[in-house]
Amino acid sequence: MSKRGVLTVISGFSGAGKGTLMKKLVEKYQYGLSVSATTRTPREGEVHGREYFFLSREEFEQMIDRKELIEWAEYVGNYYGTPKTYVEEQLAQGKDVILEIEIQGALQVRDIFPEASLVFVTPPTAKELRERLVSRGTEDIAAIDKRMNRAIEESKFMPQYDYIVINDKLEDCVEELHQLIEKEEQRQNSTNAPRETKDYKEFILKIQKELKELYA
Ligand code: 5GP
Repeated sequence: MSKRGVLTVISGFSGAGKGTLMKKLVEKYQYGLSVSATTRTPREGEVHGREYFFLSREEFEQMIDRKELIEWAEYVGNYYGTPKTYVEEQLAQGKDVILEIEIQGALQVRDIFPEASLVFVTPPTAKELRERLVSRGTEDIAAIDKRMNRAIEESKFMPQYDYIVINDKLEDCVEELHQLIEKEEQRQNSTNAPRETKDYKEFILKIQKELKELYA
């Protein structure tokens, strides 16, 4: 039987360094990274078809109506969604595909592709998350506070993910993600035994507590 690619969905707190992580991961290991559609305006340096397909609300809604998206969500006033064709084609060709999407979308993907693994990437501590947002220097304190508050909400969904990956050192995190995908591929293409996941309860409770303490 020919090998089918595995689908990995990666989410994480905004500002946790996911963008850099994805870039490194696909550069080093040539995974297929799906390009999403969005209605938000491009940031400087972003190219249509590379970072996103930048669409009008009308165009996006047409894609919804035509069922051309695997999942979609509204996030901070804009639509974001994953086009179906690319993902389905790559998986059928045996290529592993990564979606870097927010939580509401990730949970929708699980309904459609129950075999997809859901990975949540997080900095080691809430303090570190805040420091990364501050050192990026792209947002003012009010915007940073908004992202931190969103992180409190997002942390409530962490227990629904299959894996939690701590993004402490970038290179280590890239390796951990790669190994996780490789293992998943072997599992899905052979025994299909249950996933070997760790118990993340303690870490989740710790970071939830830290986030709340920082913003109490
Ligand atoms: P940004 O505007 O910073 O590029 O992305 C904002 C959020 O949208 C990020 O959390 C990112 O993961 C998420 N996102 C990007 N593409 C998609 C998508 O196709 N679907 C969903 N549900 N979220 C997406």
